[in-house]
Amino acid sequence: MSGKTILVWFRKDLRIHDNEILAEAVRKGKNIVPVYCFDIRQFQHTPFKTKKTGLIRAQFLLESVADLQNSFRKAGGELIIKIGKPEVILPELVSKYQVNEVYHHREVASEETRVSADVETALWKLKINLRHFIGHTLYHKEDLPFPINSIPDVFTNFRKKVERDASVRACHETPEVMNFPDNLESSPLPELSELGFNENVPEDFRSVMKFKGGETEALKRMQDYFWGTHAVKCYKQTRNGLIGPDYSSKFSAWITLGCLSPREIFWEIQKYDQIHGSSDSTYSLFLELLWRDYFRFMFKKYGNKFFQKTGFKGVAPEENENQHELFERWKNAETGIPFIDANMRELNSTGFMSNRGRQNAASFLVKDLKVNWLWGASYFEEKLIDYCPANNWGNWAYIAGVGNDPREYRYFNVLKQAMDYDPDGEYVRIWIPELSKVQGSLVHQPWKLSSAEQSEYQLINYLNAPQYAPEFVVEKLKDKKNLV
Ligand SMILES: Cc1cc2nc3c(=O)[nH]c(=O)nc-3n(C[C@H](O)[C@H](O)[C@H](O)COP(=O)(O)OP(=O)(O)OC[C@H]3O[C@@H](n4cnc5c(N)ncnc54)[C@H](O)[C@@H]3O)c2cc1C
Repeated sequence: MSGKTILVWFRKDLRIHDNEILAEAVRKGKNIVPVYCFDIRQFQHTPFKTKKTGLIRAQFLLESVADLQNSFRKAGGELIIKIGKPEVILPELVSKYQVNEVYHHREVASEETRVSADVETALWKLKINLRHFIGHTLYHKEDLPFPINSIPDVFTNFRKKVERDASVRACHETPEVMNFPDNLESSPLPELSELGFNENVPEDFRSVMKFKGGETEALKRMQDYFWGTHAVKCYKQTRNGLIGPDYSSKFSAWITLGCLSPREIFWEIQKYDQIHGSSDSTYSLFLELLWRDYFRFMFKKYGNKFFQKTGFKGVAPEENENQHELFERWKNAETGIPFIDANMRELNSTGFMSNRGRQNAASFLVKDLKVNWLWGASYFEEKLIDYCPANNWGNWAYIAGVGNDPREYRYFNVLKQAMDYDPDGEYVRIWIPELSKVQGSLVHQPWKLSSAEQSEYQLINYLNAPQYAPEFVVEKLKDKKNLV
């Protein structure tokens, strides 16, 4: 062991399992100084008047940082927690603890990479090296069968070549012993109010599950999903579900903050397959993780184009003249289409929305209401508990037709989708109790009820809202041929 002190700068890698920067710092250094900075810029407003981080995700982040701090405390150390700009804070800590080198994981989106560049410049002035690691994906960038710029724009082409020519590396060992400087400061966890929130975190009993941040909860969830309920066994059949904890893995919020390593999940899948035999379900879960890799690599390939209306296709979708008003209705779950409103209510109340819901809500905003898709993506950025730049903007660009969808014009008929994925209307009734008395799938089209039925079912609260079933949308939905 050398006499080095290494500062480990945690960002979206809030775990001690399969964490290369930590494993390598422990291996190389005499002492480690673990640090997390709440970058205040992440709690400000966007140009679209949404917040960069909403209340529910902020709470999840606090829990995740607290759990990491706890892990270091158990190992006899500390996690230094600061609020401010990393490019200011890290050089101060480097001087205070006589740090020799700083380790961090590279990010892909521009704001995050700009912060790394600023940290690098600030450290350079102290003649300290910022060492970059790559550690967010299933496949290591260096193991891909093509350079980033040549990655195919069609996922299937990427998948086929990666599956044939690349392999997933083993996980890094969790360090058993860690050494810390004696004078490591103890930091209190910030209050939500210090991050600009004055309201309480909402709790909704209808949430698909109770999400608690941190590696401990993430590993517990993985254990339960594989070995407790074995829900992973039917992932392929259930993944388009809308209700409850087990129709999909619900790993996303933990993966996004790095509380759970995608590689760890990959090796858990292998273990599961060895015992129970490989299946379409475990393969499908792997494919979704591969989609995540793909969007991340696409972000490296196309950079800020994912934040532009034209994406990387060059032609922006059409926009309505009254799009401001339509956007407000969409955000507030007042479109008059119950399936969309139910999904938006779920998002607003819990921070989560199923993949099926996200596809429909996004498509409806872009293709039916014809609202600027960047506004929708920004709104998701604020609200989603699992927001991650590449996944969010990559998926939105895909749906807006300016990203990785090879199909010319993909259209989600939200009424058909509602009937297919919520055939009895159970999901809609959970989120729109005003419609609870409407039987069966009619709940998706309450405007079809007679006025006598409408008053019998007391639909007044929902139907009399100003948004009620915009005629032009309903008409359009009926006519669509190109259904998904
Ligand atoms: C408009 C839109 C916005 C989205 N924004 C985000 C986002 O900000 N953050 C995010 O993590 N996912 C996003 N997704 C992808 C997907 O909806 C969520 O990852 C998934 O619903 C989370 O639930 P789960 O963990 O149970 O997923 P599962 O179905 O169990 O999938 C397992 C994991 O695979 C990854 N994954 C699944 N689907 C996708 C996908 N379509 N693209 C990329 N990765 C995927 C996630 O890491 C997920 O946790 C978005 C999808 C759409 C259509």
